[in-house]
Amino acid sequence: MPSQDIILPTRRSQHRVALALTAALLYFSFAAGTILLTSDGKSHATVWLADAAVLALLLSRPKSDWPFALALGWAANLAANALTREWAPGIILYGAINMAQVLLAAWTLRRCSDRGEILANARATFTFLFWAGLIAPAAGAIAGSTISLVNYGEAFLPSLERWYSSNALGIVILTPFLKSCFDGSYASAIRARPPRNRIEDLGLLLFHAAVSAFVFGQSGLPVLFAPLCSLLLLAFRSGRLATQAGVVIVGISGALAAIYHVGPVALVQGGPVFEAIFFQSYLAIMLGTALPVAALVASRAEALAEAARREELLRIILDHSPDAILSFDGVGGCQWADGATDELLGLSAAACRGASIDELALKISPVLANLSRAALAAPAEAHIADFNLANRKVRVLEATVKAVMSGERVVGIVATVRDVTAQRAREREIARLAMTDPLTQIPNRAGFDAAIERVPMKGEAACLALVDIDNFKGINDRFGHKVGDRALVELAATIVRLAGGKHLVARLGGDEFLILLTGDIAAAQCFFGNLQQEIAVLSASLGFEITISGGIAELNALAEMDSIFEEADRRLYRAKRGGRNQVTATAH
Ligand code: GH3
Ligand code: MG
Repeated sequence: MPSQDIILPTRRSQHRVALALTAALLYFSFAAGTILLTSDGKSHATVWLADAAVLALLLSRPKSDWPFALALGWAANLAANALTREWAPGIILYGAINMAQVLLAAWTLRRCSDRGEILANARATFTFLFWAGLIAPAAGAIAGSTISLVNYGEAFLPSLERWYSSNALGIVILTPFLKSCFDGSYASAIRARPPRNRIEDLGLLLFHAAVSAFVFGQSGLPVLFAPLCSLLLLAFRSGRLATQAGVVIVGISGALAAIYHVGPVALVQGGPVFEAIFFQSYLAIMLGTALPVAALVASRAEALAEAARREELLRIILDHSPDAILSFDGVGGCQWADGATDELLGLSAAACRGASIDELALKISPVLANLSRAALAAPAEAHIADFNLANRKVRVLEATVKAVMSGERVVGIVATVRDVTAQRAREREIARLAMTDPLTQIPNRAGFDAAIERVPMKGEAACLALVDIDNFKGINDRFGHKVGDRALVELAATIVRLAGGKHLVARLGGDEFLILLTGDIAAAQCFFGNLQQEIAVLSASLGFEITISGGIAELNALAEMDSIFEEADRRLYRAKRGGRNQVTATAH
């Protein structure tokens, strides 16, 4: 059994050929029909609809299909001309010019929009009218009229005018409709339309067809405005595709009326050429009005649908938002509240709306009022602060308040509140880790410095002691690094235990410890003596001897902490030089 992979490309190429043959057949029918009905057999037809069939096909197909479509179009052009006019070699050239102008229009439109969309919005409509209704037929008209002049001696300007207006109109009237037929837009739009709208669309199209038939079927009343009204009705109610079909209905009704010399156009005085120009101008005005309106209505409808989609998305986001969001007007009234107001603030969004910021601050936290005042005073910045609800102290909330500006003027403020309990706990843990020595779990130098800043000495006597293990390298060498680590941990625990929360202990790094001892030098020396005794006990439990040396310097209100530290370090150095296992507490 053949797989889908084999069937699909075959179907695609069958579809491609079928579309190209349909376009060629349409080309032949339109070309032969318009020549027979509107031309005298020599000069150019009044409305040349055929090129629209090939242009519509090119715009709905990839560029790789274009050569085949253009070749078939040219063949259809030759066949129609050869059958309906006297044969002349110039016919070959005319066909080539027709295909060249179609190619120019297709190529420029494709460059402007990838998918060759021609009436999707006002800009695309303008682009289409410019390239397909003006430039391409003008280029074709110049080439065609030059050939007519050279080959048949036809007057250049009248021929140019006839070629241009008949080609431009034919292309503009029929291309959008046929393109939507070829690219499947009609089929999918009809499928997607709810049955009620389908009936309405059909009704409006029939009404428009009846109006057009009435207007062009009589010659008594100059009611050419009437089809424009029914076409605009189609544009507003049924959209772009129905409007395209409506334009085709008017074009065909008018063309038939012109052929049989009936309709309001026949009332125009000035002969058949002037009648044709008049009808073409009428159609051009109708196109120029109805198509942009349809495009505008369609883009408005899309914009409205997009706005509704965004609003729905915003509602979903806010319904699921972990934050509460409140917006206040220029005088501090809450205009809008949404998100997790119940969960975070203990107030429903409805209860927040309408309340003033001061009322809410009373119920929630004074922080909100303070931040809003700060936001009004410095509107360029976001003002952030943590707070707790009176009845939920464990939870940490963060409020961010920012002024809403309109140019230079503050027109309101927006406040968001979020739960930062977990985040603050994490931050505290990170800060703790940054200030803690990982081995001994006592503060490191940063932790020591932070602790000193937190607890300023209030004029009481205090000393800074630097403690360093004697010959610690040797312990590491003899018993291994792990045992050395254990000795450091045990020593830290011994110092902390002895300090008993009264003194601040930190590991400076390596085998060096820093102690802030409350009391004078004598008290510090006493502490040191006690520590040496404790270390002797520790040595016994470790199974090897540890001794320490120390340098003690008294804190002085006039001296910087760094210079006191340096002094303690110098004294430690002297204790080491003095034979170790001792403390130096004097300058010399
Ligand atoms: P001194 O009496 O002059 O202080 O001699 P020392 O051998 O103790 O020399 P010093 O204090 O300069 O060297 C400290 C040594 O401590 C160096 C390093 O091998 C060791 N050390 C530093 N940090 C650690 C640690 O985290 N664990 C272990 N086991 N050893 C460490
Ligand atoms: Mg040492």
